[in-house]
Amino acid sequence: MSDIQLRPVLDGQKALVIGIANKDSIAYGCAKAFRSVGADLAVSWLNEKARGFVEPLARELEASITGEVDVSDPGQLEAIFDQIRKRWGRLDILVHSIAFAPKEDLQGGLLNCSADGFARAMDISCHSFVRMAKLAAPLMTNGGAMFAMSYVGANRVVGNYSVMGPVKAALEAACRYLAFELGPQGIRVHAISPGPLKTRAASGLKNFELMLDEAAHKAPLGELVDIMDVGYACAYLATPFARRVTGGLVYIDGGANLIA
Ligand code: NAD
Repeated sequence: MSDIQLRPVLDGQKALVIGIANKDSIAYGCAKAFRSVGADLAVSWLNEKARGFVEPLARELEASITGEVDVSDPGQLEAIFDQIRKRWGRLDILVHSIAFAPKEDLQGGLLNCSADGFARAMDISCHSFVRMAKLAAPLMTNGGAMFAMSYVGANRVVGNYSVMGPVKAALEAACRYLAFELGPQGIRVHAISPGPLKTRAASGLKNFELMLDEAAHKAPLGELVDIMDVGYACAYLATPFARRVTGGLVYIDGGANLIA
């Protein structure tokens, strides 16, 4: 999608976006969309190797807060929230756009997935969102919006999605329960389900090119989605225009999920 000209409807809002690996990342589309409507950004990178790719993007996005966050490394998540507390004193938007499963567990089918691989996939791709929500909620003193990236493989069987199917189903359920628990504080929680996108995480899936072809063929809107489609939809959900929307699953897939 070419850049849409938007008024700064999120002017001065504070957004933490976790999950940028490079320019193809869904998280980068979200960060870019939030910035285009005036939000201030905090962004993270996974480790020192990733920093070289993400730091220039953070500069381009004029991110005021940056830092290393590996959610499986105790203390790192807390450290970026500490920075946010000291620098901004509040937070309005949280994006969880991360997933991981060990390759051998992802590619060998669910029956062959090891208990350890299943637990790691669940911890990094699902429970980390609950941990982030717990750290974010006290900073969302004026209400807020939280987003977690799921996939249609949570609700239907998508060949090769394997262990990520049950993990994303748990993530979607976590969004519903967090929407329930955080609703009284004016915090809205959204599970976002983008159509397939050519990113680094997706390259770990067997026959991903076939998934892309199928999605483009099935989508009533006739095209694959891009990262800005996902970003602008999240930006809309973060605005007061969507102030009564929470807990649902929002497909951004050109309608492909409708077609058997
Ligand atoms: P990506 O590779 O650009 O992003 C995945 C991110 O996860 C990376 O930034 C990586 O550093 C991060 N990550 C992995 N382990 C981590 C850890 N321990 N701590 C912190 N971060 C960690 O790929 P993407 O496609 O943009 O993936 C983003 C999200 O979107 C994922 O949840 C993915 O499942 C979901 N999603 C992707 C597609 C797709 O087709 N690409 C479709 C639907 C949903």
